[in-house]
Amino acid sequence: MKLMSKEKIALFTIFGGTGDLARRKLYPSLFNLYRKGYLQDHFAVIGTARRPWTDEHYHEVIADSLADLDVDDALVQKFASHFYYQSHDVTDVQHYITLKKLSQKLDDQYGLQGNRIFYLAMAPNFFGTIASHLRSENILTPNGFNRVIIEKPFGRDYATAKELNDQLSATFNENQIYRIDHYLGKEMIQNIPAMRFGNQILEALWNHDYIDNVQITLSEKLGVEERAVYYDNSGALRDMVQNHILQILSLLTMEQPANFDEDGVNAEKVKVLESLHQYTSDEVSTNFVRGQYGATDTVTGYRQEDKIEPDSTMDSFVAGKIMIDNERWSGVPFYVRTGKRLKDKFTRIDVVFKQPLTNIFQNLSAENQLATNVLTINVEPEAGFDLQMTGKQVGQGFATMPVNLHYQHDAQELADSPEAYERLLHDILNGDATNFTHWHQVAASWKFVDVIQKYWDEHQPEFPNYAPGSMGPQAADDLLTRDDRQWVYKD
Ligand code: NAD
Repeated sequence: MKLMSKEKIALFTIFGGTGDLARRKLYPSLFNLYRKGYLQDHFAVIGTARRPWTDEHYHEVIADSLADLDVDDALVQKFASHFYYQSHDVTDVQHYITLKKLSQKLDDQYGLQGNRIFYLAMAPNFFGTIASHLRSENILTPNGFNRVIIEKPFGRDYATAKELNDQLSATFNENQIYRIDHYLGKEMIQNIPAMRFGNQILEALWNHDYIDNVQITLSEKLGVEERAVYYDNSGALRDMVQNHILQILSLLTMEQPANFDEDGVNAEKVKVLESLHQYTSDEVSTNFVRGQYGATDTVTGYRQEDKIEPDSTMDSFVAGKIMIDNERWSGVPFYVRTGKRLKDKFTRIDVVFKQPLTNIFQNLSAENQLATNVLTINVEPEAGFDLQMTGKQVGQGFATMPVNLHYQHDAQELADSPEAYERLLHDILNGDATNFTHWHQVAASWKFVDVIQKYWDEHQPEFPNYAPGSMGPQAADDLLTRDDRQWVYKD
């Protein structure tokens, strides 16, 4: 049979096939790839977990996970027929032997050409065990590709990340490891290189001569929800800054890669992440702020949440000022903040440009102010950008006013475009790791974050210190007012 060129061929083995991530993200994403023709006849999925499910029950779970997608039942059944369930304790060697046999059988049945994708949708403490068994039981194939997908968190500091990476590296080469950071699958995050390197008018100004400061805000409205146990052992700094925020920052600040591909982007991201100014302990106390939300009559405080320690000192909010020690960014602060139970759920980047050196219109009227040029990249919920400029008021005389250039992606087009996990799975099928986090990026990010975390571990915070529905503690605003600046997005 002649294959359509867009069809990808692979056996997915999902460790943690009964879990939340698999049901909410992976099965719907695989289904979307299926209905778009990227997966057709030559794919199969083995779901593994400890529960003793049958294939029939597994197919019902797959169908349930697609209930929100308006789809034809017959297509769902056809898709689900590619799924096989194997009860598997990842610590039991015997189970890998059964897994290997099933993999080979499915490879023959579906013509999978030895292509393997291993998705580790499980707690990270199992990653090393799974990787070493995949090697010792010879589950990797010699003929096709072998790729492993790792979820966050990748360690909880540099030392544990390195240990995990060493374990994975004993089985997989770096170019076979896909570390997921789902922010890198978001439309407007992927738009950053297009905006920067596709527009001379921006790239020419993209440096310390013209940019005053940059602000990155990842704001969440919900509390810890069902991730309480994990979160109370992690906190906002480790959960959001080490990965998502530093990844966004690296895309905003890296030099132009020789080519827009995996090697080019990785090399430039590593360089800039290794140039982050490393704080001393004293500098941490003035440049990083942590917070934890309290309670109100209607909202439960962090310490009262289910499965959170009543005296927890974990940060549910972090704000910081990051400096980059290189020529382009010398003296430009990058203010970042993220937290739970904030005013709203959104992600935005504000690039604040410097003011013109003179205002020639003020001799006409003292009210003729110049607007600060701010490029806002709206990542979510709206996706697009705004550019604030100075213009002239319509009419007689000469009066200035701020004007806003606004671009927003079409909501329907956006709704029809792939969700982050679908994009990233598609990239993995193509063997393209441009939108994934490479080890040296992870290492540099942890080294930066470890200094802050260490200082915090050694100093007790006074928590709670911010109200649910606010934009965090007062100290997060002070971080900017101290520098005669303010957050572009305020409460
Ligand atoms: P989960 O607890 O819902 O699922 C864990 C899975 O592991 C289940 O299928 C469980 O049966 C299986 N499992 C546990 N112990 C096992 C063992 N000894 N042998 C075999 N199977 C075993 O977790 P989740 O929310 O799906 O998260 C999975 C991974 O993805 C974690 O690393 C998590 O940090 C990461 N992650 C999840 C989300 C999310 O939205 N759920 C988001 C980001 C990252």
